[in-house]
Amino acid sequence: MAYEEHYQQSLSSKYECILFDLDDTLYPYSSGLSLEVAKNIQGKAGGYDFDYDDFHGFVHGRLPYDLLKPDPVLRNLLRNVPQRKLIFTNADQAHASRVLKMLGLEDCFDGIICFETLNDTKQPSDSAGDSSTDIEMNTDSGNAPVDDLTLPSTPIVCKPFDKAFEAVFKMADIIPQKTLFFDDSFRNLQTGSRMGLHTVLVGTSQRIEGAHHALESIHNIPEAFPELIADS
Ligand SMILES: [Mg+2]
Repeated sequence: MAYEEHYQQSLSSKYECILFDLDDTLYPYSSGLSLEVAKNIQGKAGGYDFDYDDFHGFVHGRLPYDLLKPDPVLRNLLRNVPQRKLIFTNADQAHASRVLKMLGLEDCFDGIICFETLNDTKQPSDSAGDSSTDIEMNTDSGNAPVDDLTLPSTPIVCKPFDKAFEAVFKMADIIPQKTLFFDDSFRNLQTGSRMGLHTVLVGTSQRIEGAHHALESIHNIPEAFPELIADS
């Protein structure tokens, strides 16, 4: 019987890796935090002439993070999912670290792919050996002071663009066909799906084109994907 169970389990383990968006995916839109992000962006991004660190610092630095509460249910759930788990967010590292800390999930992921991971925001004078393709794992704020930073000539690499997904697949050694991708954004899911990921819309149970599954809440993972949860 044990052998059969094991055999069934290996058959159903079609996912090797899980990518999670952060905002409005690991916590609900109803927390109110995203609304504050939107307000801050409207207040700042009217002009194009900003540097990235300053922009992220402005948008995220003054958010009411205490709107987010620890989520022990999600924590327990994630810790029972044996697959490699990565955050894939357009936000900066400081924001991602802060959100994960507020949710009590800072040790639930194998890595964080964030704005700085996908975009070389460093000055040419910074250490040449510093690779922009490392997945951010440390919790340092990364807010190095910069003088006179000008906008890099390369376009920003972020979701929902193909280039961001391609970069993530490469740097994290991901086989999209063996990866589940949770996100609340329709456009992100559409790209993800087109690029071979198994996609899960989070925030509503109404499935949309481009999403293979739809979950009202990230807490619904055990019902939707019982094969992901390890026997405890
Ligand atoms: Mg999101």
